[in-house]
Amino acid sequence: MGVSSINYNIRSFLLGKEVISSPKKIFKVLYIFCIMKLLVVGDFHGELPSFIERIMKKEKIDLVVSNGDYLPFHYRKIWFKYCYGTGLELWEVIGKKNYQRLIDRELREGENVLKKLNKLSVPVITVLGNADYSDPDDVADYGILPGQIEKSSWNFEKNRKDYFANLIKKYKNIHRIDYKSFSYRNLVFIGARGHSYPGIEESNAFSRSLKILSMLFKKFSKENKSGEVIFLSHNVPYKTKLDKIGMKANKLVRGKHYGSKLVRKIIDKFQPVLHIGGHIHESRGVQKLRKTLCLNLGALHDKHYSIVEIDNRKVKVRMR
Ligand SMILES: [Zn+2]
Repeated sequence: MGVSSINYNIRSFLLGKEVISSPKKIFKVLYIFCIMKLLVVGDFHGELPSFIERIMKKEKIDLVVSNGDYLPFHYRKIWFKYCYGTGLELWEVIGKKNYQRLIDRELREGENVLKKLNKLSVPVITVLGNADYSDPDDVADYGILPGQIEKSSWNFEKNRKDYFANLIKKYKNIHRIDYKSFSYRNLVFIGARGHSYPGIEESNAFSRSLKILSMLFKKFSKENKSGEVIFLSHNVPYKTKLDKIGMKANKLVRGKHYGSKLVRKIIDKFQPVLHIGGHIHESRGVQKLRKTLCLNLGALHDKHYSIVEIDNRKVKVRMR
């Protein structure tokens, strides 16, 4: 039997007598019958443990999905002590020189994780985390965050959101998808950040982010009816069991829901098959919000990760 008649038989089997001319389309249809296996990791904080490669081989992983936070955040303690909720910038506390040195080290250690991810045998898709030296500007405008007065007057700080984002661009196996989409086989990923707090719904940034995401979701619900949409963001959806801050945290946020309102709105409206987020390490778990299975994968820094299997609209999550 010739190749073309095999193709024809597959086509007829899948689509009755309708013939699809493009091989790309045939693959897309065939992938519906394949199980996709994702390794879901994030909150690296400066490390990619070597056991990850072993797991990838053992599980035959098709794709790595990451919710960001590559930088170690070595300054966590001092930042919470002097800057959190006070409006003070860290460089005002430790001096510009020390600050630049500290950021250089943060970026270097974060980039080491990227280098290792770039060498993996399957593509990696990611969004930026709040520790990735990124602006708060996806869910709030400058000057309206409580305790945050103005955009920094120092140029080094003004351009902060570009540093790590530019580093990622160098690594061709890593695809950053904040406010973009990425298609892989029959899956479509849509990405956001959602930053590290609920976000301010009245801000221009919030409505801008909401608009972009809504456009992307509408586009894919029209164009790709059979494809499953997976929503990836750094933070988890607001007011769930996945976004509760632990009792050991800073007293300003202790015990509060601190997930993203932006992420929650999108999930409520568009019901993707799966949402992947993290950031709030202590509330690791899964929760169903109507048709969407939401996953807080915990931190790789604490040796946590998840394996997700997607078989058509069936999603199976194994948390480790
Ligand atoms: Zn984070």
